[in-house]
Amino acid sequence: MPNAQFPIPNPKNFMQNTAEYYCAYCGEPNLTFIDLSAGGQQSYVEDCQVCCNPNILYVRVDEDTLDIEIDTESES
Ligand SMILES: [Zn+2]
Repeated sequence: MPNAQFPIPNPKNFMQNTAEYYCAYCGEPNLTFIDLSAGGQQSYVEDCQVCCNPNILYVRVDEDTLDIEIDTESES
């Protein structure tokens, strides 16, 4: 087994950098990239990829499971 020492890619770890949220304006799902090194609570504005309106994203990362939750709010 010459490849035995290579770490096996964990699909869950791979997925942790992206999360889905629903646009506060049009309700369509958007994919966003989460910088996990930025902390367990983040908020930033991102334009919807469908209707281009600015969503305020409130991102929470569970420190134990690294599950990502996103709440969205319209900017106006
Ligand atoms: Zn939208």
